[in-house]
Amino acid sequence: MKYFVGLIVTVAVLAGCMAMSNPQSGNPNVDQSSAKGIIDYAGKPKAPRLHKSDADWKKVLTPNQYEILRNAGTEPAFQNAYFNNHTDGDYYCAACGQKLFSSSTKFESGTGWPSFWAPASKNAVLYRRDTTIGMSRVEVLCSNCGGHLGHVFDDGPKPTGQRFCMNSGALKFVAK
Ligand code: FE
Repeated sequence: MKYFVGLIVTVAVLAGCMAMSNPQSGNPNVDQSSAKGIIDYAGKPKAPRLHKSDADWKKVLTPNQYEILRNAGTEPAFQNAYFNNHTDGDYYCAACGQKLFSSSTKFESGTGWPSFWAPASKNAVLYRRDTTIGMSRVEVLCSNCGGHLGHVFDDGPKPTGQRFCMNSGALKFVAK
């Protein structure tokens, strides 16, 4: 029974946001180098505007930022900069500086990752189906640079019902 409960908790945590990725193996189903499968809020194919080589991204990003933004990595829950941030302000892409989220849509999801019920604007992010770790999820990308931000789920609060589950390491917060 204990094992069963532990299993349920584990699955719930994984379903709550994202699994840890292996930096060595990368993420075979998330090809950061092409625009394949990337769509906008209306479901239309759309490519990120900014393109840089992996080598150039490595020059401007910290190893943690690179792992999340360019390798679709996931930071640990409850051990990241913004999950418990309640200050008013805006969240920008840590790679390109585009405004992505606002504190006005941030809510307590209990997952240990910063969670929002909407992006700063409809065109701030793009989406892609992600079938890694045996789940069908929707990946969220910066629409400007294509950096991986996290995933979006349909169990968020009103008014949208969406939960944008983000990595703090992909974001840069600026207080108002
Ligand atoms: Fe970006």
